Amino acid sequence: MNHRVLDTEPCSDLEAYQKMGGGEALEAARLVEPDAVVDALRRSGLRGRGGAGFPTATKWTSVIANASPDQPTPVIINGAEGEPSTFKDRAIIRANPYRVLEGALIACAVLKSRELVVCLKRSFVRERDRMSAAVEEMRLAGWLKDIDVCFVAGPSEYLFGEETALLEVVDGRQPFPRVTPPWRRGIDDDGDGTAAHAELASTQDTAGVPALVNNVETFANVALIVRNGPEWFREVGTQESPGTIVCTIVGDVTRNGVGEFVMGTPLAEVIETLGAGPRDGRRLVGVLPGASSAVINETRFGTPLTYEDFHDAGSALGSAGFLCIDDSADPLRVARSAARFLSVESCGQCTPCKDDGLAVTALLSLVIAGSASEADVKEIGSRLETITNEARCSLAAQQQVVIGSLLALGAELRSDFRPSSGEQGATTTDDPAGAEAPARRCVLAPLVDIVDGAAVYDERQEDKQPDWTFDSVDSGVYPAQRLQNVPLETPDTHP
Ligand code: SF4
Repeated sequence: MNHRVLDTEPCSDLEAYQKMGGGEALEAARLVEPDAVVDALRRSGLRGRGGAGFPTATKWTSVIANASPDQPTPVIINGAEGEPSTFKDRAIIRANPYRVLEGALIACAVLKSRELVVCLKRSFVRERDRMSAAVEEMRLAGWLKDIDVCFVAGPSEYLFGEETALLEVVDGRQPFPRVTPPWRRGIDDDGDGTAAHAELASTQDTAGVPALVNNVETFANVALIVRNGPEWFREVGTQESPGTIVCTIVGDVTRNGVGEFVMGTPLAEVIETLGAGPRDGRRLVGVLPGASSAVINETRFGTPLTYEDFHDAGSALGSAGFLCIDDSADPLRVARSAARFLSVESCGQCTPCKDDGLAVTALLSLVIAGSASEADVKEIGSRLETITNEARCSLAAQQQVVIGSLLALGAELRSDFRPSSGEQGATTTDDPAGAEAPARRCVLAPLVDIVDGAAVYDERQEDKQPDWTFDSVDSGVYPAQRLQNVPLETPDTHP
């Protein structure tokens, strides 16, 4: 394992961080022209670690090109980590919030920003305390200069982590994704309180101040690149995916945990070194990267941890959170769990995303119960085809890809597994995992913590209704309608 952005021991205070060279990058960034910092990022090849792997320098360049001459560009730390099987951002913050903040302050220097917004879920109390204490130390030490740092305590919804939805939350509105590219519209304190600004935000709309949003791990890497140089960053990793990546391993492995690896490390090595391999007597059959990309089957466990290799393997690296699935699990139940999670979290701005997602979840339940007709099974396939129609964010495609891949994995593992193809007819078994492997509880849910090698899941996810309430019965009203004019509770707070 590597230790660039995930320190082996928690950094105790700002003084300790300075002894590690902390602050040197910020000092240097404030002395040079902004272009020099962006150029260093470009030469480093750093790609955003939030999931999409978008080149960081390209994003910064777009934001700078669209900056307003009258209003400074806010810089936003996206710490709304909600991808199932991912805990790396919280691990980084717990170990060393100073490096993350230093990277974000470098962005402020480049953009001449006077506003830094730290977005964390309201439930991330420990991380919030750690970050706000670090901000206070930096303030007292004079690191902030005229930069105002504020915290946004966001909702538990999965979409909070989506970049445009996060900007909505910063504005005090519900986490409903926008149509527009995120850099095109920034935060807007004068928002009228309506949801999603769907009618205002379009690809033709060039008004508004942009915002720079980067993930926690990305900002930590920025600080290191500015301090050590792009060549140092490229000493490890591959040409297209340089540097390291912080991985989370959970599920059917001996030990759950978080660790940093050089890009290009085979997935199998992460499973062995971080997860200590499969549980006794079991064989891993698949690894699901969060709830966003296709499952990697066991024949592809040698796939190197790079954006390009995961793409070639038919999946995506995402935020490097890996749910390991062994031969005691039933891919149908994992698929149903993924379908439920994503369809519940869908906001319902795009009807097929919500409707088809909920329908697929219900149909998979029928298949698992052994009561699905042939028409039901066929409908799963047709719903997965239409689910992405009119979709404004990636969640719809995630349903298509993740569920489709799990059904394909089930078909690979068992010749009598027949849920996804209408040609093969309906599944009738009530225990698709077989008598030797009784049906296991499979819940795809965000992580609350990882304690002593064991993942702690958000158990409330199972009770969450598609209308985003925890009522005993779902109202049938989509969140985008139910919450359209409901402002978020006190999203903004200062440390
Ligand atoms: S694709 Fe789904 S989650 Fe995304 S905006 Fe549309 S309804 Fe909401």
